[in-house]
Amino acid sequence: MTILSRRDLMIGAGATMIAAPAIIRAQQSFAQFPFRLGVASGDPSSDGFVLWTRLAPDPFDEHGGMPLAPVDIDWFVYDDPVKQGVVQKGTVKAWPELGHSVHVEVSGLQPDRPYWYRFIVGREKTVVGRTRTLPLPGAKLDHIRFGVAGCQHYEDGLYTAYRHLADEDVAFVWHYGDYIYEDRARQVNYERDGSPKIHVRDHVGTDCYTLGDYRRRYAQAKMDPDLQLAHVNAPWFTTLDDHEVVDNWTSTVSPYQKNPALFEIRRAAAFQAYYEHMPLRLSSMPNAKGMQIYRRARFGDLLDAHFLDTRQFRSPLACQGGFDPICDGIAMAGRTVIGDAQEKWLTSSLRERAGRWNLIAQQVMMMPLDRRIADEPKPIRNTDSWGGYDPAREQMLGNLKGYGNVVVMTGDEHQNFAGELRRNGGAGEAVAVEFVSTSISSGGNGSDRRAGADKIMADNPFLKFSNDQRGYMICDVSRDIWQGQFRVVDQITAPGGTISTRATATIERRVPAINLS
Ligand code: FE
Ligand code: CA
Repeated sequence: MTILSRRDLMIGAGATMIAAPAIIRAQQSFAQFPFRLGVASGDPSSDGFVLWTRLAPDPFDEHGGMPLAPVDIDWFVYDDPVKQGVVQKGTVKAWPELGHSVHVEVSGLQPDRPYWYRFIVGREKTVVGRTRTLPLPGAKLDHIRFGVAGCQHYEDGLYTAYRHLADEDVAFVWHYGDYIYEDRARQVNYERDGSPKIHVRDHVGTDCYTLGDYRRRYAQAKMDPDLQLAHVNAPWFTTLDDHEVVDNWTSTVSPYQKNPALFEIRRAAAFQAYYEHMPLRLSSMPNAKGMQIYRRARFGDLLDAHFLDTRQFRSPLACQGGFDPICDGIAMAGRTVIGDAQEKWLTSSLRERAGRWNLIAQQVMMMPLDRRIADEPKPIRNTDSWGGYDPAREQMLGNLKGYGNVVVMTGDEHQNFAGELRRNGGAGEAVAVEFVSTSISSGGNGSDRRAGADKIMADNPFLKFSNDQRGYMICDVSRDIWQGQFRVVDQITAPGGTISTRATATIERRVPAINLS
């Protein structure tokens, strides 16, 4: 029970004298602060955005410690950070069906400007978050700056990179996926060379199967103050990858459950928890068919961003489903990464040629890296990447040919990479470039170069940069130049890790090549 101060009691008493509805609000008391998971905004448009929070006074409880009844939350949008001017406000119901999360879709605002927001329930107020609207589609825009992050295994390290991302002046953050990891508390963990890994913190609970399990996992991540600050700083576009459900799932196939009917039950719980904890629009609410994740955002006349879903429509993994010697499955025709409907949507969106640049924001690496680090006889591929789907990748690169303004951005690898997307298995014409952004924490501290990186660079000439530290990317997009900065933290096992720019990759519009500095 929150201890009430004399002042709180006086405010409560005052409220009873004003109006009847205020009595109910003022008497609403929670055992703990109900906004312990923070706030977020997301999916901005040129006239609005989504505002998110979730009531969870007891975050590790499967219902967040809330009574199983709807609760009204008031929301406010301000045109200044000190809350002088309320431009919109309203009341939204937080329903137990959605873990008392709310997704307020605000519209009718001015384009291309910051707004601030917060939520209030009873006497309890959230922090004030900052968000911003997009420029009008087609409006002349000279520059945009955004961040890219993902892969934040809670046990592998502190979210120090998020504290630094919260200090960056970005119009938005794109989260590529692995917001949570579904696995159990590991207790003992090992580095790549077999030495014990410095263990920073533990997951609460074991492997996630039920809605309550997944809710608890998100709640634990979201109680992290560095992550909360990064959400407070800017709106996010979020897409999910595999660990929001289970490692290496595709469509209705799990490597760990041969019965798709059973896997679909787990997937439905995971999708619901994902929706409950992300600032997504109602159009992304999961239903019996799945969840609408692929979508587009248009930034004036400068940038079209296409956020892809490389999980729900994908054919099962080839070979053994790991980093495997190439097998026949990789070359098999008819296997897909994004599915026909999404590919048609993407190609017709590209054909509009509405932006000077096209961002294809997706999850798994498109460059077909040969991963051999010693004298293995056959090339080795990451089968959970476009490198496990040769015909699908070649078809996709064919779709990108002729634009010269496409930047593919990727996560998943827990390393930084930059390279050229060349047809014919990496030996042909370059049609686009790919940036792979490292993890926030997954993999632990890392080092500048992972063992074997020199051989991988030598064997894959289309790959121009690799680095194995933790961090995020910042992209500065102007009318003719795209600059990607690989921001890395020196360590994530103790508080206070410092940030630096490990490398900057520059692309000239219409020239799909990487220039490093
Ligand atoms: Fe990951
Ligand atoms: Ca995986």
